[in-house]
Amino acid sequence: MLPEKFVLADRVLQVAPSPTLAVNAKAKALKAAGADVLNFSVGEPDMPTPVHVCEAGKRAIDQGHTRYTPVAGIVELRAAICAKVKADHDWAYEPDQVQVCCGGKHGLYNIFQAILNPGDEVLIPAPYWVSYPPMVQLAGGTPVIVPLAEANNFDLDPEVLAGYVTAKTKAIVLNSPSNPTGAVFSQKALAAVAQMAYKNGWLVISDDMYEELTYTDVRIPHILHADPRLKEQTVISNGVSKSFAMTGWRIGWSIGPMEVIRAMNRIQSQSTSNPAAPSQYAALAALQGPQEFPGRLREAFIPRRAFFVDALQSIPGVTCVTPKGAFYVFPNFSAYYGKSCNGQVIEGSVSLADYLLSEAKVATVPGAAFGADAFIRFSFATSMEVIVKGMERIKIALAALQ
Ligand code: GLU
Repeated sequence: MLPEKFVLADRVLQVAPSPTLAVNAKAKALKAAGADVLNFSVGEPDMPTPVHVCEAGKRAIDQGHTRYTPVAGIVELRAAICAKVKADHDWAYEPDQVQVCCGGKHGLYNIFQAILNPGDEVLIPAPYWVSYPPMVQLAGGTPVIVPLAEANNFDLDPEVLAGYVTAKTKAIVLNSPSNPTGAVFSQKALAAVAQMAYKNGWLVISDDMYEELTYTDVRIPHILHADPRLKEQTVISNGVSKSFAMTGWRIGWSIGPMEVIRAMNRIQSQSTSNPAAPSQYAALAALQGPQEFPGRLREAFIPRRAFFVDALQSIPGVTCVTPKGAFYVFPNFSAYYGKSCNGQVIEGSVSLADYLLSEAKVATVPGAAFGADAFIRFSFATSMEVIVKGMERIKIALAALQ
């Protein structure tokens, strides 16, 4: 026990643990204890990391790449990241404009630490990924939540956004395809946001983690294509976690203006020093080796997404926007709020997720964690068998609510 007078830092008392990781841990613990839990919580591809990538990680250890690397990551990997964005988007960056970090999540953390002063506001469209607001708070900034409408397919509405802009607005977070909605922002919306960002000098933080996992034939719009002038004030966040099924290797990166990347390197040099060396060599193999893996993931996800969306839309009272990317469905269950079963009242997404876990043994993440209480998030990065079984159980559990 800590001494009675000892108090933890105010900053840690402001934030809760990541709900995606918390639900995943709970589902795994229940499963380990013998419960037949179907886990739709955490966003993690269900395929193993490609063999050649694992081999490269092992080889790196055998070759002695077990020591510190440069703070920003090995130059070969940073050069490969530059080559990738050049090939994919025709964007020209130098390795000095790249920071490799311990997953995209860590990169975002470093960005906020590097740019925010107390009171600085960051525009965050909601539904948002769970960690953006706490990360902004941990850096002393103020998250400003901008609602997106389900009726507008969760696209950004520049007029709504304008209502949340103040003299303190410093940055905006864009995540397209989005976790949790799978929405892709339209070219029109991005062009309008680009104009606002350019005029007001905001930093644009573009979280592109799901850009390889889209279900449209055309390339999805990006703010830097909408207005290339923004390159000087945009930081792109990405990584290999989702596209190469490398969540546990913890390799992500940020690309952007040299001054911001240098500031982030200062933070990284005083915190993690560098991401794990063998993981960096594995990520290098992912970027330089065969590139068909993200396509294989996409192919596997297409039928699951179709089944999930159809099944959800066929439940009375449930609406579900078809995701254009990522691997989540985000149905609206609010028609069931206020109902109850055996005295258990469904007050909102948290109690519905609890009910689904206890009654149907289905683990999900409540929409409240994403700033949208009407919804529940399901990851479809799990087998079709689990999805079919899960939907059966959910239908029965919902039908029992009166
Ligand atoms: N980003 C994934 C998710 O939303 C992984 C867990 C996390 O870091 O939030 O489930």
